[in-house]
Amino acid sequence: MLTRFDWERAADLVLHFLWPLSCPVCGKLGSPLCRECLLDLVGGEPGKISCSECLGPYPCTVHPGAFPVRSLTSFGGLSRELVHRLKYGSQKCLGKPIGDLMGRRFQAPGRVILVPVPLHRGSGRAFNQSMEIARGISRAWGCTAAEKLAWKTRRPSQVGLSPGLRRKLPQDSITWKGAIGRGLPVILVDDVCTTGATLRVAAGAVMTAGSRVEGAVVWALAGTS
Ligand SMILES: [Zn+2]
Ligand SMILES: [Zn+2]
Repeated sequence: MLTRFDWERAADLVLHFLWPLSCPVCGKLGSPLCRECLLDLVGGEPGKISCSECLGPYPCTVHPGAFPVRSLTSFGGLSRELVHRLKYGSQKCLGKPIGDLMGRRFQAPGRVILVPVPLHRGSGRAFNQSMEIARGISRAWGCTAAEKLAWKTRRPSQVGLSPGLRRKLPQDSITWKGAIGRGLPVILVDDVCTTGATLRVAAGAVMTAGSRVEGAVVWALAGTS
């Protein structure tokens, strides 16, 4: 015998099946994100280029060895909502359009391999949202995207940690998997950059494996004004 709760839940599931998605910007049902809404969200912004060490303007006089971190938006409001839907709402289909737009806004840097920041071990998530974004960029740039990095150890999520705690990331926490492949320079991809610590550790893993990081591209930059 089904309870009222069961019926309501069943009705929700049917509705979810019929209209599984709605655009987070305009609310249109059946669309994960309208292209026009995505364009409206980032407006005419050319994006920002930041120093991988201090997230100040790039090139940086203090950190001449840093690589450029390109971001398209700041992390807040709708840009944050999109990341949350992609990451925690399992709306995998949001990744590619976001990446595609990033690829169109940032000039293709020539022959590179796009490598996403890896998911934490035991994160429980079904897919790596940064890989989905990398796939979108690879389509726009006509280059390869591959999951080549992995966390060495299981560590707790950084969500909710203060920037001070997040920075304490052992330098060898991430490692390169497999062959380095034709010496193509690496562009790191992530959804959000908060302190740059994860990108720096990922870059260290690329260098240890014998390649070089040409830069990083992220959807949103958080923690800076
Ligand atoms: Zn829309
Ligand atoms: Zn700097």
